[in-house]
Amino acid sequence: EGTVEFRDVHFAYDPDRQILKGISFKVAAGKTVAIVGPSGAGKSTISRLLFRFYDIQQGAILVDGQDIRDVAQESLRAAIGMVPQDTVLFNDTIAYNIRYGRTDATEAEVQKAAELAQIGSFIEALPAGYKSMVGERGLKLSGGEKQRVAIARTILKAPPILMLDEATSALDTHTEQEIQAALDLVSRGRTTIVIAHRLSTVISADEIIVLKDGRIAERGTHVDLLRER
Ligand code: ADP
Ligand code: ADP
Repeated sequence: EGTVEFRDVHFAYDPDRQILKGISFKVAAGKTVAIVGPSGAGKSTISRLLFRFYDIQQGAILVDGQDIRDVAQESLRAAIGMVPQDTVLFNDTIAYNIRYGRTDATEAEVQKAAELAQIGSFIEALPAGYKSMVGERGLKLSGGEKQRVAIARTILKAPPILMLDEATSALDTHTEQEIQAALDLVSRGRTTIVIAHRLSTVISADEIIVLKDGRIAERGTHVDLLRER
């Protein structure tokens, strides 16, 4: 359970500009594939396509051997945990944001997930910009804290497949280590596709895909890629 396959995927947001030009890779259940490459190469686009925010023009994306066009949107999204780089929070408490998609979770489960993601101390807080009858109030969360809300949500959701976009922004070392620990925890034993910016992720990945200008320029384990140089 939890295999992902991209089969000769072609995609363009605008018909006159091809973004992905024939991408093929397979992630076996429980394995990790890291996607690296320069900005604009199409890495985030791959994550959006897996979640079916857009439909591809050619090729196929399969989850557990099934074309995602034949899977109901809810079951597809229930199977995938998405931790984007820029998490957009709902206009409600952190606890609500963590619980999203798992409304049956108990308060203790929400609290536990929050603690694992290092945000246990402020789950009743409201994000900055929260609008209420008494005007604007709320807690200003950093990018890293918002990402931890997404991690807590994913810990609670416990999906078979994980789609992670590691932060590029210069988080302070302590925060970065805490986020890394939470990400390691949530990806253990799950099929993971990670847009990797950290060397540690790349080293431990079962396969690294180097994306350049919408094509796979190189692929292999960290050792393989070093040997080729
Ligand atoms: P990466 O994650 O590797 O930096 P992206 O997948 O975000 O790359 O983007 C690949 C290309 O697609 C970029 O040139 C980007 O400008 C373009 N792009 C991304 N999103 C959209 C969109 N919604 N509409 C049109 N072009 C887009
Ligand atoms: P539901 O399955 O409850 O209808 P959605 O399909 O909206 O929920 O989203 C399921 C999961 O996808 C949620 O965990 C949410 O974090 C994530 N998600 C939804 N929209 C986006 C988005 N635009 N970017 C990144 N993640 C998203």
